[in-house]
Amino acid sequence: MNGQAGNEQAVNGQAMNGQSENHRSMKVRTENNQPVNDRLVNAQLVNDQPLNGQEGSDWRSSEHAELVNAQTSAGAVDYEAAPNPFANKLTCKMFELLEALSRFGGGPPGGGITRLLYTPAWLEAQLFLAEQMNLAGLEVRFDRVGNLYGRLEGTEPGRAVILTGSHIDTVRHGGKYDGALGVAASLAAVVSLKERYGVPKQTLEVVSFCEEEGSRFPFAYWGSGSVTGELVLERCGLIRDGDGVTLQEAMLAAGFGRPEQAEPRRSDLGAYVEVHIEQGIVLERTGTEIGIVETIAGQRRYTVDIHGEANHAGTTPMGMRRDALAGAAEMMVLLEKMALAEGPPLVATVGRLDLSPNTSNVIPGGASFTLDIRHESADALEAFCGRVSEAFAGIAAARGLKLAQQLQLEAPPAPMDAGLGGRLERLCSSRGLSCRRMVSGAGHDAQLLAAVCPAAMLFVPSRGGISHAPEEYTAPEQLARGTELLAALLHQLAYEEEAAQEGEEK
Ligand SMILES: [Zn+2]
Repeated sequence: MNGQAGNEQAVNGQAMNGQSENHRSMKVRTENNQPVNDRLVNAQLVNDQPLNGQEGSDWRSSEHAELVNAQTSAGAVDYEAAPNPFANKLTCKMFELLEALSRFGGGPPGGGITRLLYTPAWLEAQLFLAEQMNLAGLEVRFDRVGNLYGRLEGTEPGRAVILTGSHIDTVRHGGKYDGALGVAASLAAVVSLKERYGVPKQTLEVVSFCEEEGSRFPFAYWGSGSVTGELVLERCGLIRDGDGVTLQEAMLAAGFGRPEQAEPRRSDLGAYVEVHIEQGIVLERTGTEIGIVETIAGQRRYTVDIHGEANHAGTTPMGMRRDALAGAAEMMVLLEKMALAEGPPLVATVGRLDLSPNTSNVIPGGASFTLDIRHESADALEAFCGRVSEAFAGIAAARGLKLAQQLQLEAPPAPMDAGLGGRLERLCSSRGLSCRRMVSGAGHDAQLLAAVCPAAMLFVPSRGGISHAPEEYTAPEQLARGTELLAALLHQLAYEEEAAQEGEEK
């Protein structure tokens, strides 16, 4: 990495600030057909080009523009004439960023968005965001693992940082909102607050976490886990993706992972706030505008292996069989009954089943399945898993089957900060927004951050509860509400309070 391009400065952890207004229309230019690290070195900030390298593209042609334009005069965005120019500018900025992000990793129509960690689409999206942060006059830096920060320094040094953001990676063929909404809303909020209110008392930072989904490498939360210290390169560097590439190799190829780059772990955080799509159907079904997450559910994943005896399907009498699949089926039906009896918020799922020999005329000698169990209470989760384990053992014994259950993953429930949740609730009621407190069944970056600082999450509805698919959708007015609420909370915390992160009720 010997280039002197602006992006390389950012990658090296140096501020890119101080180049503000005359860079109004910079774009990240990358060369095609080059290795990713060359692309990074050669990525240049070029003046007088349209945003996002999309010559002639115009986000205003999207569905979002209709909402924005409807709020203003016909066809044109006239912020100052609108009833609330601040809210209007804020939501325009969020829509603009969200639309722009959806072009990185976007496939053919209907193919969704695939932006896997350290791939070219991922890198270009991060560089685009770095450029946008820079244009807005934020101090921009990447850490060693590729988390991107845009910092707005507060006037009261020594106070902890208020961090807001989400993740930039997606699942394969994912949607346009998961992660990207939180990044776009956070950046729009901080930029708009800066424009409207100037320098905050307490430092605000936007973060675009490098990875959350676990879609390329078989583990999740690499971005936020590196920040909290839960995950470290020494332990994860040799983990391989589906093509046999190690995390370390992929990092280096993308221009990260070098010792001179900034250490990802942080101990200066005072609060973390994240906006996300619900990825569930509760808000839509109940006609609620905002979800305030009380707890991110704890999760246990097991593999269950059952060994019986493979034998001839025609010659083995029913009473003389040790059918592994019949045993597995009994276990699954019982699991569903037990989960229904336990009631919400417990959920239990068998998502994968493998049989051996998996042939029509042979009694299955082996059956393996996965078990995913989630609950907001650690005690309830543990107790339920214990009862399931016992019940499975009973079924196996009665059928003469061998049983091996192995715990593969254990994530404790992560309670969000009650004080921040209360603030969000009051902000909703003062705005006439309907809201409900809820448990997030899905995992999020906020659950890791909650271990090191007060954390809050707010949800906007997902149409049909669908996520991790190209059909993922949230209506523009719902996106706008979530973004405005985030900006209002950040304003309270960073501009109004003497010591926002202290004295929150736990
Ligand atoms: Zn997400």
